Amino acid sequence: MKTGLVFHNDYLKHKQLANHPENPARLSATQEYFLKTGLMDMLYEMTPDPAEVEDVARVHSMAHINYVKTMAEAGCGRFAVIDPDTYLSHETYNVALLSAGGAICAGESVWKGEVDNCFALIRPPGHHASRNQATGFCYFDNISIMARYLQHIHGVKRICIFDWDAHAPNGTMGTFYNDPSILNISIHQDPHSFYPGHGFIEQMGEGPGKGYTINFPVPAGTADPDYLYFINEYVVPRVRKFRPQLIAVAAGQDSHQTDFISQLNVTDAGYAHMTQAFIDLAEELCSGKLVLELEGGYNLKTLPKTNHTIVSTLLEGQTDHVVQGEVLSTTKELLMQLGNTLKGKSLWPDAPDYSELDLSCE
Ligand SMILES: [Zn+2]
Repeated sequence: MKTGLVFHNDYLKHKQLANHPENPARLSATQEYFLKTGLMDMLYEMTPDPAEVEDVARVHSMAHINYVKTMAEAGCGRFAVIDPDTYLSHETYNVALLSAGGAICAGESVWKGEVDNCFALIRPPGHHASRNQATGFCYFDNISIMARYLQHIHGVKRICIFDWDAHAPNGTMGTFYNDPSILNISIHQDPHSFYPGHGFIEQMGEGPGKGYTINFPVPAGTADPDYLYFINEYVVPRVRKFRPQLIAVAAGQDSHQTDFISQLNVTDAGYAHMTQAFIDLAEELCSGKLVLELEGGYNLKTLPKTNHTIVSTLLEGQTDHVVQGEVLSTTKELLMQLGNTLKGKSLWPDAPDYSELDLSCE
């Protein structure tokens, strides 16, 4: 495959407080690992431009955009505080525009066929940023800005966004909550006791968007077989029905078993197989058009290798990693709950008969 990698050295300029988990080393360590292993030589490197304000304004209010700009300027070498997790330094506004521009660059290069697929190695992350608020390390919602750009500039009608970050994408969910042109599916740690307190099964969109937002909130300890079970049993048939013209993945590697920010148990093998699942689905449905963009992932010892596994899978189009373990009964019960909720609202009339689902654990 011709696999693109979007990166810009200026992504390292955005800094938060000392010891903040969302720091420049997340990207520089990944970049160094890609260079050391020779992977970088096999990728088509792309340097993005910052997003234009009008691109960001398709997702965020001008008041929000100006607020981030003003607060960043006010930081002036110190830090301005948005919430206990989210700070702005002098460079934050410009780097946040560049991060959104990186997502646009990745999406556009795939859409135009300049590369077969693409990984946007960008920061700051975006999926918690809502129309009027920066929060959870996020300022502008990169993946939403990319989706709206592709729709507005290139006339793309249907995009599927899948989010495997440990946290529910409350920003992305809010942007497309009424919109049936974006199928927005997320698997994440149960928000009853986990940031951002959104992403429940019952949150499934409104009006014409009803049924186009899908949340699968899993308990701590959920691992590779459970993620693949959800993808194979629900995501694949649902996305087939939606017929996207492009698939975008909000790839947050903080669901990794070594990440200190979540209690999930995904391994590199799980990420490889999830990547493979979306490669296969994109091949089947939309000429392989697949974009991944970085969200979370904070263990500096393991994140570079996990990113390497994901991007290698994009490049090779397949993986020889082996997933181990059995599907948890909680995962099967959760899928039953999701299926019954959708069925009850006539949002998935041809759902399998979950009353006959085998819930036993081998
Ligand atoms: Zn996260």
